[in-house]
Amino acid sequence: MIRSILASLALAVTAGAAQPPNIVFIFCDDLTCQAISAYGDKRKLLETPNMDRLAKEGMRFDRCLVTNSICGPMRAVIQTGKYSHANGFYNNSNSRFDSSQPTFPKVMHANGYQMAIIGKWHLMTDPVGYDYWNVLPGQGAYYNPPMIDNGKQVKYEGYTTDIIGDLTLKWLDQRDKSKPFMMMSQHKAPHREWEPPTRLLGFDNDRVYEEPETLFDSYSGRSKAVSDHDMGIDRTMTDRDVKLVTPGNLTPEQKKEWDAYYEPRNAKYRAAVPAGRDLVKWRYQRYMHDYLACVKAVDENVGRVLDYLDKNDLTKNTVVILSSDQGFYLGEHGWFDKRWIFEESLRTPMLVRWPGVIKPGSTCEKIVSPVDFASTFLEIAGAPPMEGVQGRSIVPLMKGETPADWRKSLYYHYYEYPVPHRVRPHYGVITERYKLVHYYKPDVDDWELLDRQKDPQELKSFYNDPEYADTVKELKAEILRLQGELKETMPPPRLAHGNKAFEGEVNPPVQPKNKGAGKKKAGAKKQE
Ligand code: CA
Repeated sequence: MIRSILASLALAVTAGAAQPPNIVFIFCDDLTCQAISAYGDKRKLLETPNMDRLAKEGMRFDRCLVTNSICGPMRAVIQTGKYSHANGFYNNSNSRFDSSQPTFPKVMHANGYQMAIIGKWHLMTDPVGYDYWNVLPGQGAYYNPPMIDNGKQVKYEGYTTDIIGDLTLKWLDQRDKSKPFMMMSQHKAPHREWEPPTRLLGFDNDRVYEEPETLFDSYSGRSKAVSDHDMGIDRTMTDRDVKLVTPGNLTPEQKKEWDAYYEPRNAKYRAAVPAGRDLVKWRYQRYMHDYLACVKAVDENVGRVLDYLDKNDLTKNTVVILSSDQGFYLGEHGWFDKRWIFEESLRTPMLVRWPGVIKPGSTCEKIVSPVDFASTFLEIAGAPPMEGVQGRSIVPLMKGETPADWRKSLYYHYYEYPVPHRVRPHYGVITERYKLVHYYKPDVDDWELLDRQKDPQELKSFYNDPEYADTVKELKAEILRLQGELKETMPPPRLAHGNKAFEGEVNPPVQPKNKGAGKKKAGAKKQE
């Protein structure tokens, strides 16, 4: 270890050009590919020129797939390079990150990198391995957010996405310029309840958005687990979600601007409240305005960071990565939220610019995953790999080379149930063409086989089709192989805590080993 530190320092102090690359990791919460114009969604929901710049000058990964489509767990996966069952952070309901385990920031830091994290953290214990951290407690607020600045409670006035942008630029400016750095600029947006900045209210001039073809999915021919959800635009979306209620934490000035936009439109709604399908259609339009305005604010702040790198001669030696903790439903299957193994929430955006290494305007269709990020960051930094990781570095793919043994399948496992969205636990395997998924608890025991080639919208299960019998057999064997390789015991040792349906078969939650650090909460509030 000491030798590698010395090597890194030697690299840093000799020729300036030899300094290892900086990394700017811009990470969002619930940002989905359909909302980024570089991904070319047919609805053309939004123009994101700054994110698109990363795709144009770098590489667009088309199948970056998460291993557990939910916020906190994917953040733990990124920190550790390990699956939820291996890092102990299964769900948002009761998991706390055991920060005594090996994480990539600790290794980067030990190898001479300045590490900073700003914005959404959501791992319930304080960040470890960072020179500077300033994070939102729990989910954080869209306006006037309290934050925790290296352990000290602070409060800011303004719009959180812009504040995270400001703090990111401020740290970049004040950092020790003799060392390489990694900046993790992590937005709260566009998480529920999708509160836009007042400056962007009405940015779309009351555009009528095209609806997804599956907005009124009947869920027929699939497991009860799919139809019996609680994340529908029809059944789950609240008045707060659709801004029929004004957030309570706005300043008088913010409230004035907020109400000036929403009130006349809400008055029109109240004068003739729609019902049934019309209500879904109305909510979908409001949802799109709000969600996309939040994304637009993120895109503007991506632009500010890229400008800063340009102006400070950092572009050439800085790898910029944009990603999200998972994808999201923008009305597909009648849903908002995430969680499922289905494509919209399984696939997360990943755009990478690395001048001189990545060919501008390139794309990659290989299956990569945030479980690979830790190994990737370490290889970029020239730091030694971490032992026990379950992902592998994506750097060869960035260079346009596909290792012969690159994965052809990925294992997935989602645990959180029944609250908040009644998505039953499921695991499965994903290949380029298929997904085999097993809903196994508590009141269903169903398998589904999805064929993306024949049914890209994933509206049908082919599990019982005799023509697919061999495929099912092969994929079941693949699941067993992956569970063995990843050392996952079934049934899982711990599921959603407090769920009566699981009582008697669930071990008590594992306590974090570092009790001292564990007591100090970065976020006390339990939310989805
Ligand atoms: Ca999320």
